Amino acid sequence: MWENSQSKERSRSIWLPRVVVVDSIEPEVDGVATYSLRAKSEDKDSTQFAPGQFNMLYIPGCGEVAISISGSSHDGTLMRHTIRHVGRVTNAIANLQPGSELGLRGPYGTAWPLAECMEKDVVLVAGGLGLAPLRPVIEAIVSERHRFHKVNLFIGARSPELLLFAKEYEAWTQADINVQVTVDRDPQELGYHTGVVPLLIDRWQPRDPQKLVAIVCGPEVMMDYSARSLQNKGLKGESIYLSLERNMQCAVGVCGHCQLGPDFICKNGPVLKYDRVKHYFAVRDL
Ligand SMILES: Cc1cc2nc3c(=O)[nH]c(=O)nc-3n(C[C@H](O)[C@H](O)[C@H](O)COP(=O)(O)OP(=O)(O)OC[C@H]3O[C@@H](n4cnc5c(N)ncnc54)[C@H](O)[C@@H]3O)c2cc1C
Repeated sequence: MWENSQSKERSRSIWLPRVVVVDSIEPEVDGVATYSLRAKSEDKDSTQFAPGQFNMLYIPGCGEVAISISGSSHDGTLMRHTIRHVGRVTNAIANLQPGSELGLRGPYGTAWPLAECMEKDVVLVAGGLGLAPLRPVIEAIVSERHRFHKVNLFIGARSPELLLFAKEYEAWTQADINVQVTVDRDPQELGYHTGVVPLLIDRWQPRDPQKLVAIVCGPEVMMDYSARSLQNKGLKGESIYLSLERNMQCAVGVCGHCQLGPDFICKNGPVLKYDRVKHYFAVRDL
């Protein structure tokens, strides 16, 4: 009886968003802003997450969207979400102000393999908004830098003004992360390396590819080419981690909207090993 009521409570709570409050809004690049959210209740656990996980953000009367957690405040009371305003729900989020309330379910999904990265060389590869889910990993590495060996961070964007979190690159460099940036186009000739992000991988010489962990996030085509370049450098597919985006509705592995083969991306992902998903990249428009 007790078991039953407890599991009923649990199954009810996965569908119930809790109320969070917009603490502040930081404009990033064109059409993208970071929303810092705090829990309305005193429940400290409600802002706990592992880097790589995502939340479902809910605007009443409009809908719910999956958004990666792009960071937290130092005291852990705020969760950040960096959002591109592209459609119905994300444009409604764009109309929020500090003090506005919204619903949040989560965190959900698998995390980046931080424990596996410890005492090893690490390479992080980000394309466009893909840097958002990587920022909590970068912050975790910076806060315990001595636990990681050589860290490379390759960042790509379409043009210089679309480079996300550009103000933070200097601090990451100061923390002994080798930050390299490339843009597809540099029309004002600001001196950026031009070309797609896998080219940065092609130019790089890893120390010991067999003992290296790679974390890659961005558009699918960019992740596929980056993973191939990493394999050409000698990395094993099982040491390359990607984050997949699919249409998510329930976020708890029930509805099947995000199913890819045997995997529900919301539950078995979004972070998955390249080895496990690479055959899907060969299927057009999947
Ligand atoms: C695990 C996961 C993590 C995610 N993390 C983030 C994140 O950190 N930040 C973020 O901004 N988004 C993120 N997304 C994508 C986000 O969920 C979608 O952009 C959102 O669902 C769009 O909802 P909407 O109602 O605003 O747009 P809709 O009204 O559903 O779509 C409007 C139009 O926008 C197009 N569209 C939808 N998504 C995108 C997109 N990502 N880029 C360009 N066009 C798009 C659609 O094809 C459609 O034509 C994530 C998705 C997943 C599955």
